[in-house]
Amino acid sequence: MPVTYTNPETIALHAGWRADPTTGSVAVPIHQTTSFQFQDTGHAQRLFALQELGNIYTRIMNPTVDVLEQRVAALEGGVAALALGSGQAATTFSVMNLCQAGDNIVSSTDLYGGTWNLFANTLKQFGVEVRFVDPADPEGFARATDAKTRCYYAETLPNPKLQVFPIAEVAAIGRKLGVPLIMDNTAAPVLCKPLALGAAVVMHSTTKFIGGHGTSIGGIVVDGGNFDWEAHAERFPTLNTPDPSYHGAVWTQAVKPLGPIAYIIRMRTCLLRDLGAPMAPMNAFLFLQGMETLPLRMERHCANALKVAAHLAKHPAVARVIHPSLMEGEWKRRADAALKGGYGSLMGFELKGGAEAGRKFIEALKMFYHVANIGDARSLAIHPATTTHSQLTVEEQAKTGVTPGYVRLSIGIEHIDDIIADLDQALAAAS
Ligand code: PLP
Repeated sequence: MPVTYTNPETIALHAGWRADPTTGSVAVPIHQTTSFQFQDTGHAQRLFALQELGNIYTRIMNPTVDVLEQRVAALEGGVAALALGSGQAATTFSVMNLCQAGDNIVSSTDLYGGTWNLFANTLKQFGVEVRFVDPADPEGFARATDAKTRCYYAETLPNPKLQVFPIAEVAAIGRKLGVPLIMDNTAAPVLCKPLALGAAVVMHSTTKFIGGHGTSIGGIVVDGGNFDWEAHAERFPTLNTPDPSYHGAVWTQAVKPLGPIAYIIRMRTCLLRDLGAPMAPMNAFLFLQGMETLPLRMERHCANALKVAAHLAKHPAVARVIHPSLMEGEWKRRADAALKGGYGSLMGFELKGGAEAGRKFIEALKMFYHVANIGDARSLAIHPATTTHSQLTVEEQAKTGVTPGYVRLSIGIEHIDDIIADLDQALAAAS
């Protein structure tokens, strides 16, 4: 029996893998293969009929990817996971696994720009309505819910506002109404455990902190195994009615002997099979390398960000700093309730000189990279209004918290003196 660990530092190094049974390899091998030889025709038949779980074809499963799936599932306290080719694919799959044309979901307004676009435009074209709700008022989720509502969706620590989502409150509302909460925990791995707070599903863009080294695009969805899909059967037809694409299987029944994994199995056997978007084995290997140091990196990210936030808050060129450590009242209470061990590495600030000063500041940075990314070991900066949020209208930008002079930072794990020195010289150049 494999040992089960509960501490993130140990999970990050050991969950899902000990050593290769044939070679003894300690590092997880990269299974760079499209397909897997069946033992005989009976074996092949049993695998396709899901009577036995095993490798068939890398679009659907792969042993290297499987270790990452087990490791992230263990980190989040879930029962199983599905890795995908990007965070966007993970978001799309997490929602579409429950929805059909004519259904709706309720989402927080505070979202990554790409998720906003997916929800406001693309899902609409597929006949799925997304109802946006301001997370300042958790009861808004209940008011927006009707019989066709299939899930709630939100981000733990959404930038640019960085106001921590009321996970426990909205999860509790959803559980009363029979609606699962899906949390995008990309910005707060290790720090936040949404499943323990009542969420049913967690997703990550592994591109960010989990990878940590800016090498690969990927995403993952974790099934909490803690939501009773059968108790609300009429709300979840994709899991509770016969699936014509799989010999009429009813997923909640078919996988019962394997555990509470109906949601994630259906996502693999139907959505991944039909829509594609698997994670490449090489990328899974790189994410596993990143994961080994994830808890350590998060500690340093958080410690550095705390110091940068305090420094910028005192700086004469800075109008305001947005970081959970500096918030007060309800938002601080929510941050303290959901985040353990730090407030994350993301922060925003507004220069007194507005948009022009923001541009000058970005141009003057020497060590920070100017990139559309977060969660890298290196420090990063960007001007959201002209980049990540530029496909949104000005009104939509304002709703998500982006103002013209806002600069976003993702604080890395360099020495704090070098981070502050680069910020100071760029602030001087922008003033
Ligand atoms: N979720 C969040 C919070 C993100 O920041 C991003 C990307 O920036 C995504 C999802 C999408 O992930 P990916 O770029 O891996 O598709």
